Amino acid sequence: MQDVERDELHGSPSLVVIVSGPGGVGKGTIVEALVARDERLWLSRSWTTRARRDGERHDAYHFVSRDEFEDRIANSGFVEWTSFLGNYYGTPVPEGIDARDLVLEIEVDGARQVKLRHPDAVLVFVLPPSRLEQQRRLRGRGDAEDKVEERLRKAEEEEPVGIAMADHVVVNDDLELTLQELVRIVNHERKRRISR
Ligand code: ADP
Ligand code: 5GP
Repeated sequence: MQDVERDELHGSPSLVVIVSGPGGVGKGTIVEALVARDERLWLSRSWTTRARRDGERHDAYHFVSRDEFEDRIANSGFVEWTSFLGNYYGTPVPEGIDARDLVLEIEVDGARQVKLRHPDAVLVFVLPPSRLEQQRRLRGRGDAEDKVEERLRKAEEEEPVGIAMADHVVVNDDLELTLQELVRIVNHERKRRISR
């Protein structure tokens, strides 16, 4: 990760919420619904060198080549970035000022980088109800079988690290209950910041 100023997440958001967890647990689904429910939140759109999946939204990521990604690294253009299962993923330094609270949906290495530089960021680590259910969700989303296996293996590494770093651990069983829990966490963290 490049050396950038501590106020790189400019606009001074009072709250940075990191949502992390293994592939297929439901992070993307959760953060999209969360920002739709709360107009005081905005979701950073990551850059990736991964190819777009069939059926995936064109704006799910900013899809770029490895050269474009590496140019942006060289220009200190990422808050954090990592290499995950053979592709780059990164959070671009925000453009302009946004007073809303920021939501990042990133894997555990990126979460670790953001927590190091912004200790006040709140890390919510999301777990699947079971490995079998995670597998069902990955398959249901249309991931190729080798990608499913890769993500399930990776989950075994990611979970102990994520749980150890997390401020909140949430099991995404029923989606609506998960969303209610996230709303509660965000409101709780906002109140804590006001009362400090
Ligand atoms: P991630 O971003 O963590 O890789 P996604 O948000 O893409 O995961 O979700 C993977 C699949 O699981 C999607 O098809 C999504 O609709 C489904 N899903 C998400 N949350 C739940 C849930 N609570 N119950 C059942 N299916 C879910
Ligand atoms: P996927 O290929 O399934 O979309 O994403 C793979 C992993 O990369 C997921 O855990 C996802 O949360 C994570 N990810 C997405 N964007 C970023 C990012 O900007 N930075 C980091 N570190 N991880 C990201």
